[in-house]
This record gives sequence, C-alpha cells and structure tokens, in this order.
Amino acid sequence: MSTATSEGYQHLHTLLQQLHDAEYLLSHGPKRIALAEKKVAAAGQDCEAQKAAIKDLKKSADQRNLDLKTSEAEIEKLNGQLNLAKTNKEYDIIRGGIETQQASSAELEDQILEILGDVDEAEAELSQKEGAQSELEENLASIKQEVAAKEPGLLEEVDRLNGEIKEAEKIIRGGDAVSAWKRLRLAQGPSALARVEDGYCSECNTQVTPQDSVRLNLAEFVLCRSCGRILYHVSEE
Ligand SMILES: [Zn+2]
Repeated sequence: MSTATSEGYQHLHTLLQQLHDAEYLLSHGPKRIALAEKKVAAAGQDCEAQKAAIKDLKKSADQRNLDLKTSEAEIEKLNGQLNLAKTNKEYDIIRGGIETQQASSAELEDQILEILGDVDEAEAELSQKEGAQSELEENLASIKQEVAAKEPGLLEEVDRLNGEIKEAEKIIRGGDAVSAWKRLRLAQGPSALARVEDGYCSECNTQVTPQDSVRLNLAEFVLCRSCGRILYHVSEE
C-alpha cells in the first residue's frame, strides 16, 4: 500500500473517531440534563409527600384537641352534677365518671404532645428535603449552562469533521467500494475501518490472507474476510 493511500485511510479513520467522540459529547449533554431534571422532580415529589404527612399529623392533633375540649366540658358538667348529688351512691357514680373522663383527657394530652413532637421532627426532615431539592435545582442549572456553553463548539466541530470526511473519503473509488463504505459507515461508525497490524485485522484479530496482503500493497480496496471492515496498512514512519 502506497504511503499516500495508507495515510489517507488512516486519516479517514481518525476523522471518523473524532466525529464519533464529538457526536457522543453532543448527545451526552441533553442526557445529563434529562437525568438532572429527573432527580429534581423526584426530590419535589419527596417534599410534597412530606408536606402531606405533616398535614395528616396536624389534622390528627387537631382532632385530639377537639376530643380533649369535649372531654373537659364533660368533666365540668359532671363536676356541676356532683354538687347536686342526692345520695352517696349517686355521688360515687358521678365521681367515677369524672375519674374516667380525667384519665381519657390525660391520655389525649399525651397523644397530642407526642404528635406535636412528630410534627417537629417531620418539619425538620422537610427542610432537609427542601435543601436537597434546591441543591439539585442548582446542579441542574449549572449542567444546563455547561451544556449550552459547549454546544456551539461541538456543533461546529461536527460540521468541520463531516466536511473533512467528505474530502477524505474520496480515497475510496469505484461503485462497489463506495457502496460498501457507505453501508459500513452507517452500520459501524468509527469502526468501519480496521488497521492491519503485523498481518492481522486490528478489530477481529483475523490473519489477512497473502492475496489480500498483496492487494493492500497495491492500494486496492480490501475488506476483512472475517469482520467485513475496510482494511488498511498503517503507514511506516
Ligand atoms: Zn476483521
């Protein structure tokens, strides 16, 4: 293979790899943004769930407060009846009722205190979750900024590389060769071409036949008999 031809293929191969890298970086940006957006949304849902849990706790504290008021009113009513008791038996029954009601009030008070403690805890947890959410939002904003800053340069690079590939691919001539190249490029991208190193295809490690080696030396268009890639010799320095 003449030096010019092997350098031409090598150059085309390098350009394909550079294009692949640039296109990867270009598509990677939106993926990073989508992932960061997903995290922000999940954190938002987490906060909403926490707020709902706090609301439920407060509701149950409110309900117990109402029950406590009812219980206290009942105690007051029973205390009034106590003074009007006509017999000792009646007095004892009312007294018993008051004691039962007092026990139930005390229990409600305990429950209310416990729930209020839970509310404090849940609110502290909420503020942690909100902090995490705003951190994720900041992260998303900086990723967006970074991606937007890199995009024009990458687009320009992709354009430039596509232009250079158009020039470089002129090394491939002949209808069959050109259509094989087009098909391979579409299917394999940057590994449409494979170097021959010490007589072996660098992509699939199959030994190149002596006939193919001769053809390569004559700068012919040769496909690897095993993996089907376009073969080229690395030019000697
Ligand atoms: Zn091969």
